[in-house]
Amino acid sequence: MPLIRSWVKSANSPNTNFPLNNLPYGVYTVNNQDPHCCVAIGDMVLDVTLLEKNKIISPSSRTCVFQDPSWNKFMELGSSSWSKFRAELTALLKEYPVESKVDKEKVLTPFLFPQAKCILHKPFNVSEFTDFFASYHHAKNVGTMFRGPENALPPNWLHMPIGYNGRASTVVVSGTQITRPMGQLKPPTEDIPYFGPSKRFDFELELGAIIGTKSESGERLSIEESDDIIFGYVILNDWSARDIQAWEYQPLGPFQAKATATTISPWIVTKAALEPFRTSTPKPQKPLLKYLEENGPMLYNINLSVSITTKQSKKAHEIVRSNYSEMYYSSAQQIAHHTSSGCKMSIGDLIGSGTISGPEKHQYGSMLELSWGGKEPIILNDTESRTFIEDEDIITMSGFAKGDGYKIGFGENIGKVISAKIEK
Ligand code: CA
Repeated sequence: MPLIRSWVKSANSPNTNFPLNNLPYGVYTVNNQDPHCCVAIGDMVLDVTLLEKNKIISPSSRTCVFQDPSWNKFMELGSSSWSKFRAELTALLKEYPVESKVDKEKVLTPFLFPQAKCILHKPFNVSEFTDFFASYHHAKNVGTMFRGPENALPPNWLHMPIGYNGRASTVVVSGTQITRPMGQLKPPTEDIPYFGPSKRFDFELELGAIIGTKSESGERLSIEESDDIIFGYVILNDWSARDIQAWEYQPLGPFQAKATATTISPWIVTKAALEPFRTSTPKPQKPLLKYLEENGPMLYNINLSVSITTKQSKKAHEIVRSNYSEMYYSSAQQIAHHTSSGCKMSIGDLIGSGTISGPEKHQYGSMLELSWGGKEPIILNDTESRTFIEDEDIITMSGFAKGDGYKIGFGENIGKVISAKIEK
């Protein structure tokens, strides 16, 4: 699909994250006003709460869906309303002939604000958060470090996407400062644990799928139905305390190691915008059970990167360059598996892909892998290196799908780690 040109000139630049083809959904404030729903277009945001209030758009004939500063009520309308809304917005923002009598610019300009002046908030209310472990290379790397190369993958791994139920309460938006967690730590050399700040605090590069249509208790969803209920995607940083995890994870999996925070990028990039970038999961190494078999491409070609900015250097240093297409299991497979027991999905559920790692070292999606368990420091510049995150480090993740002369960008997922609160 070619670039859809907009009369908002900045949306036509090949470098913008937000051409008219993208139209991602967010929540913003400007000039200390109340938070409103918006879409990004070039370097501007278009306030859809005000558009609805002024009856320029009406996604629902019965109710106002943008009164609350979140996209949950809009999601409730269902997928045919999602498409209709996108088509209406596209028509409003599309470039039009000079001789046209309709002056769309005049009508919409009062509702456009420069992104540079806006504060972005969490775009939806997170109902529940589930996180998976569905990248082959990540699972193999971590397993090799902990159990040796022969036992790297647990016996169930090639048969199902492994996951755990996380906490929605700890999902925060990009820009939120992250306090280094305290926890029980037990170095291998000690007999008993002590309580202190995590020394192996890490990021995990993931994509988060947002559920836009609910399922019922007892209902099992096929792969296609699972894909249909996805509203869009965000870039997700699943902060992880490796030393807390190492001591607590058996027998029930991660708990406090992953409970500190999960940061999401501020723009929901819709499944509709990503449609031209679909790609397939790799051929399974072992045949999958019928309910996990895919009949079409369920992954996306999305370029991803992670950089670290230290207090000393003040410059972003890229440490990961990868692609979402490196996943072994797709979000659709994860949701099909999640509902296979009859587990109900709710609007606003967030499904973390699991750390995205590729086969090459620069594609490893965590510092645990990049520093190989802390043994191989990551060189940042002439004077600085890292094994895990240090206080005041800023982790920035970003991603985009590359179209013909345009990008479908996610914007940035930024988190600064500050020192632990030790006194109590
Ligand atoms: Ca994770």
